[in-house]
Amino acid sequence: MAVIGIWRDDMKVDQDEVKAFVAEKGRKYVIDNVVSRCPTQALSLNDDNTLNVDNRNCVRCMHCINVMTKALSPGDDKGVTILMGGKRTLKIGDLMGTVIVPFMKLETEDDYERLKEIAEETIDFFAENALEHERTGEMIERIGLANFLEGIGLDVDPHMISEPRQSSYVRMDKWDEEAQKWFDRKAA
Ligand code: SF4
Repeated sequence: MAVIGIWRDDMKVDQDEVKAFVAEKGRKYVIDNVVSRCPTQALSLNDDNTLNVDNRNCVRCMHCINVMTKALSPGDDKGVTILMGGKRTLKIGDLMGTVIVPFMKLETEDDYERLKEIAEETIDFFAENALEHERTGEMIERIGLANFLEGIGLDVDPHMISEPRQSSYVRMDKWDEEAQKWFDRKAA
């Protein structure tokens, strides 16, 4: 179970520090080492040496922030993403963890209780349903993510994807019905 720190509002950009960084390193360095290494092409360097961040497409990989430490920093609305099922080879080959909670706050006692609850639900479900020598990732592959989520009491969310922009777990049948459920949950 991986608990990864993340933010969901916009990245903070100090444009004066961006300009100072470009002045020190040069435009080519910034384009080759920051802009073109963004995995989702969410960055662009303007003619006046300021930086545009397309926050809706930023996948929070931290690369640009780690390079331009003075100019860029995470947003203020911080929380965690929880993944399960990452594993090395056993019954099937290596698996990356699967996002089961795209975002939750982890600040209050109640938040930590909720995290413990998710872990406990998972252990109970695993104890009852996993095959011998099977790990959580293999069990998710065998029974399907939707069944796993139902088993541990979590809702399916469009942010749960196998590979960004490639193979979404979200099914297109009953689309309108499922979309309405999502909008209702978001409104709540
Ligand atoms: S954090 Fe990663 S994905 Fe987001 S803008 Fe920076 S390099 Fe791109």
